[in-house]
Amino acid sequence: MADARVMVVGAGLAGSECAWQLAQRGVEVELVEQKPLRRTPAQQHDFFAELVCSNSFRGAALSNAVGLLKEEMRRAGSLVMQAGEAARVPAGGAFAVDRVRFGAEVTERLRAHRNITVVAREVESIPDVDVPVVLATGPLTGDALAADLAATIGQSHLAYYDAIAPVVTAESIDWGVVFRASRYGKGDDAAYGNCPLDEAQYHAFVKAVLDAEKTTPRDFEDVRYFEGCLPLEVMAERGPLTLAYGPMKPVGLVDPRTGEQPFAVVQLRQENLAATAYNLVGFQTRMKWPEQRRVLRMIPGLEHAEFERFGSVHRNTFVRAPEVLDRDLALRSRPGVYLAGQITGVEGYVESAACGLILGARLGEGLRGKMPPPPPPTTALGALLTHLQTPREDFQPSNVVWAHFPPLEGRKIRKKRLRREKMAERALRDLGGWLAQVGVSAPQPSEPSFASG
Ligand SMILES: Cc1cc2nc3c(=O)[nH]c(=O)nc-3n(C[C@H](O)[C@H](O)[C@H](O)COP(=O)(O)OP(=O)(O)OC[C@H]3O[C@@H](n4cnc5c(N)ncnc54)[C@H](O)[C@@H]3O)c2cc1C
Repeated sequence: MADARVMVVGAGLAGSECAWQLAQRGVEVELVEQKPLRRTPAQQHDFFAELVCSNSFRGAALSNAVGLLKEEMRRAGSLVMQAGEAARVPAGGAFAVDRVRFGAEVTERLRAHRNITVVAREVESIPDVDVPVVLATGPLTGDALAADLAATIGQSHLAYYDAIAPVVTAESIDWGVVFRASRYGKGDDAAYGNCPLDEAQYHAFVKAVLDAEKTTPRDFEDVRYFEGCLPLEVMAERGPLTLAYGPMKPVGLVDPRTGEQPFAVVQLRQENLAATAYNLVGFQTRMKWPEQRRVLRMIPGLEHAEFERFGSVHRNTFVRAPEVLDRDLALRSRPGVYLAGQITGVEGYVESAACGLILGARLGEGLRGKMPPPPPPTTALGALLTHLQTPREDFQPSNVVWAHFPPLEGRKIRKKRLRREKMAERALRDLGGWLAQVGVSAPQPSEPSFASG
């Protein structure tokens, strides 16, 4: 294929994978990366696909959503997974890598590819070129490019910090305690669960939040929060009743069992269409994960809560994907410019690379003829897109989680592990057809395992 060309900006997890997928399909790729001229404050090396913090790709087992995602990527011929295997180090149930070996492997493979030209340059505005452009500049996209992107999509559609509230599974909530109601009876009652707290429980909870261990912000994270989405602990520090007048305000909510308004309430909002998960409204937090598990389980009705996602607040440049991106991950306001990776609103090394894979495979095929469909929603790859394409007021980045998959059809399987195994089997079955559509003819399954991890 001679004249199909694409410019990919950023050789991180997403850009490297995207460039590889395009190049493997015969597309000529100009891969523009600011390193070694400039690094983001989190980077320490000059190779591509740098893992800036942990060296883990998280769980390896297929009963884990990110384990399934990795298996799907392997089958789709992912460069990140090939390099990951080459650099893998023992890590129990997790998939961890030697980061230097991993980065070196990705860099060598990309530099050696005959369809890829690497250019070292910092891009300061969305390139105005006559070929498709992929922006994969990540969570620490520089100020100039971010400003141009914000001007293109609208200032309110680009965020510089995330504010992620924890998500718990519906089946782990004690619905004998938690009552369904929306404030003042407005809207659909079924959409909210309310955990009632009496005065003593409220004050004990606030104290536990204040005493809990928090993650420390990085040097480059000047912690100036938006008033509209302050972390729980920052609100608690402002005064003993600040939370009771903020996200825990009880007004307009009557506990049907007592006929009274509780002293305070933690609201749970339905997270997905299937109502298998709920988020704790306004509970974005920097408490460490084990502390979140301990402190949030003090809330009546959440004593046995299982967390699909923990809360967080960090520096993170991302767009409001459901409004800004079309189903091909192109900017609605600027066709021909695509986004990939963390900047779209996915979260995590593996998810970012997976996002680059979906875009690269589809665009690569599309430039040769017809754009293939997105991966089926039953797959982990498809679940990432479901997250990016589900409109919601409080859109925030997310890892791949089971809540983004459609539930299994037929009789409900009670055992969580078995249910997830069935969902993984369904995903891998459905993935086959999509792989054929993006030109992967005979994917080599690795040895799928449901072992713990
Ligand atoms: C401090 C920090 C720690 C994190 N830790 C983890 C973790 O432990 N585990 C995890 O799963 N996820 C982690 N993440 C989240 C996320 O998964 C990673 O940031 C991931 O690398 C995102 O992949 P990406 O491809 O979207 O962006 P990146 O991997 O950041 O890649 C972006 C690339 O674009 C280049 N670039 C940026 N701007 C320009 C420009 N203007 N011109 C040219 N090139 C440019 C950068 O140099 C970089 O190579 C962390 C994020 C941050 C910020």
